Amino acid sequence: MTDRKHKNQKQQHLRNQTGDIMNYQDFYQASLQQPAQFWDQQAQLIDWHKPYTEVLDHSHPPFARWFVGGETNLCHNAVDRWLSTQADQPALIAISTETGQEQVYSFADLHREVQRMAAIMQSLGVKQGDRVLIYMPMIAEAAFAMLACARIGAVHSVVFGGFAAKSLATRIDDAQPVLIVSADAGMRAGKAVPYKPLLDEAIAAASHQPAHVLLVDRGLEPMQLVAGRDVDYAASREQHLTAQVPVTWLESNAMSYVLYTSGTTGKPKGVQRDVGGYAVALAASMKHIFCGNPGEVYFATSDIGWVVGHSYIVYGPLIAGMATIMYEGTPIRPDAGIWWSIVARHRVSRMFSAPTAIRVLKKHPPELMKQHDLSSLKALYLAGEPLDETTSSWIATELGVPIIDNYWQTETGWPILSIARGVEHKETRLGSPGVPMYGYDVRIINESTGQECAANEKGVVAIRGPLPPGCMQTVFGDDARFVNTYWSQFAHEQLYSTFDWGIRDADGYFFILGRTDDVINVAGHRLGTREIEESVSSHAQISEVAVVGVEDKLKGQVAVAFAILKRPELYPGEAEKRALEAEVMAVVDKQLGAVARPARVHFVNSLPKTRSGKLLRRSIQAICEGRDAGDLTTIEDPSSLTQIQAALASPR
Ligand code: AMP
Repeated sequence: MTDRKHKNQKQQHLRNQTGDIMNYQDFYQASLQQPAQFWDQQAQLIDWHKPYTEVLDHSHPPFARWFVGGETNLCHNAVDRWLSTQADQPALIAISTETGQEQVYSFADLHREVQRMAAIMQSLGVKQGDRVLIYMPMIAEAAFAMLACARIGAVHSVVFGGFAAKSLATRIDDAQPVLIVSADAGMRAGKAVPYKPLLDEAIAAASHQPAHVLLVDRGLEPMQLVAGRDVDYAASREQHLTAQVPVTWLESNAMSYVLYTSGTTGKPKGVQRDVGGYAVALAASMKHIFCGNPGEVYFATSDIGWVVGHSYIVYGPLIAGMATIMYEGTPIRPDAGIWWSIVARHRVSRMFSAPTAIRVLKKHPPELMKQHDLSSLKALYLAGEPLDETTSSWIATELGVPIIDNYWQTETGWPILSIARGVEHKETRLGSPGVPMYGYDVRIINESTGQECAANEKGVVAIRGPLPPGCMQTVFGDDARFVNTYWSQFAHEQLYSTFDWGIRDADGYFFILGRTDDVINVAGHRLGTREIEESVSSHAQISEVAVVGVEDKLKGQVAVAFAILKRPELYPGEAEKRALEAEVMAVVDKQLGAVARPARVHFVNSLPKTRSGKLLRRSIQAICEGRDAGDLTTIEDPSSLTQIQAALASPR
């Protein structure tokens, strides 16, 4: 973006009703004080087939319905809308440094591929409102599948390819898909990672049975197709080459997708999102936060299995008319310059990644970055976990562009805290993800009194409803869980809890201080300790276990397990214990996926609990991190803490 263009853009949308140019504070206040007016204006950023009759229906809090009565479609806004102006420009750039393949799809190509995929889905009986589960590596067909669902009004549920059979089976049973779209394998660090056998195992374990499984055969791993159920994608595509599948116009509050995320129970929550509110929220965030313009190239290094992949690999950039890069590979293969060579080659203007990836790159010589022409890059956005000051300063110096931390959750779909540089070039502050984004009335609440905290006082980060467009509508199939989980934490007022600790400084910048619940964050991946505990306990020799998140220099946090054995006499020596540790890790790998594997499994005779039997996870975590174990007045057996210390001190 040139400076002149930038100025014009600023002046276009930053005038209030009397024509004065607004600063971010005014913009933010307008979003809270006149939400209907504010979002009505933002809604003009997308195409509507039928206008809405009401911007916001908040008559049944905490549920919020945005753009009631309006009809639109995510696929139309991401693809069809750009055909008249930039049909031949790149839309999707699929790069795999694993297979060495790279393919650029223009908006016209993408339009054709999505219609083919949509026609295949329809031929397999998928109808509006049906769920389609997508369990795929980072290949173009995954984006075709998501957009095809959006086009025909089917509801996609993407499951991260790193999850294994048990995680997948739980999600199949909850989403009840009529169709699953998958592939023979993904590839990571030069090795094929088979998907199909895990999928078969998951379907065998699930009570719900999908009618069909559509499989992309990449030729990486042999596949056994199940007759009558499994369908080969390439063969079906041949039959639908000229398919024309019109967009299904959907009421703004229809369901667009369900994305599962970890919580405090072993059962993942299906975060359910709408159509119109999500499209508007993404379009607005692309303009005000990510500052993307049609024709530019966006590169988010996440995975479609996470919310960043939904919002800022697939939908957000395309809705903004940008080309988006889908990347299969690691940040350091063939060398740590690979991402920067992609930035240079495709003239990427905005990049989105996670702090862990930057910490990985920091271990490699900066020349690998510097040898590429990075002049197209305007900013790097980092999210998903706390951004430490060392990492932030290092990458800012090496890249010479602004580093924009942004804090949000699967539940919100777009940033809660950041710096809206499309509105005002406000200063960033090291260690802080920024200030509340427009539409979010963010408060820091004292956990026990329910009152708002003063500046610099630690409390729970909460949001006063209505949540802005784009945020979760409910927990899929469970409105009560939505209300009870998110909106019932504070005594005085119904507020949305983020389950994060935070503080706000005297200038209004927020700082995030970790989760209040048993969710941990490993390399930006959110995992529930309960789920990992369930998996560890399923090993025949384990009677009880506690899993906690422990600070890690590279990954932010790692999971560490403390397990009690059923028959400790069978494992007298270190060698036996190490072998058992490896077995337990293998169980987690097989059930949940390597992403959830504990970094260590320690064996102890008892676990610290309160007299009422509640596990003192925070005390265990504190000991692991060399901190004080906290208030132990209610602990039942103080020697359990000594055991944790002894286990940590034992040789590996
Ligand atoms: P997820 O739903 O997987 O996106 O994880 C959301 C959680 O990740 C938040 O509740 C925070 O605990 C953490 N998180 C996300 N972004 C940031 C950030 N910029 N700074 C600190 N923590 C973050």
